[in-house]
Amino acid sequence: MEEASRPISEIASFHAHIYFDPANTRSVAEWLRARIAERFPVRLGRWHEVKVGPHDAAMYQVAFEPDVLAGLVSFLMLNHRGLSILIHPNTTNPRRDHVKDALWIGEKLPVHGSSLPEQSVADSAGAPNTKPTIVA
Ligand code: ZN
Repeated sequence: MEEASRPISEIASFHAHIYFDPANTRSVAEWLRARIAERFPVRLGRWHEVKVGPHDAAMYQVAFEPDVLAGLVSFLMLNHRGLSILIHPNTTNPRRDHVKDALWIGEKLPVHGSSLPEQSVADSAGAPNTKPTIVA
């Protein structure tokens, strides 16, 4: 019998993790954060200047609803300016979301999945904290 496919309704939200080097590319990350904020209804997370959780470099998180994915990912593909960006779904398995089911823009970095649970409540994106005024 054919194995059932996973429905996209498993995905409660997405994250983009935008990595930077505090000594060299923070200004690029600041530029990109401002461009995202003026174009997309997303929830911008705080700056992490040091490694946190499964992440192997400084970064900030961008949380968003599934209907924002196509536009935001398209924008990031064209405007990442050399930064590495991890985009992952949020389902009930954070480890699989980050390690197996993610996509990358720019250079792929290590992700330390052992720090993540294999079962959890799927994260919602939360209320957007941006007020877009520009069409991407
Ligand atoms: Zn995440």
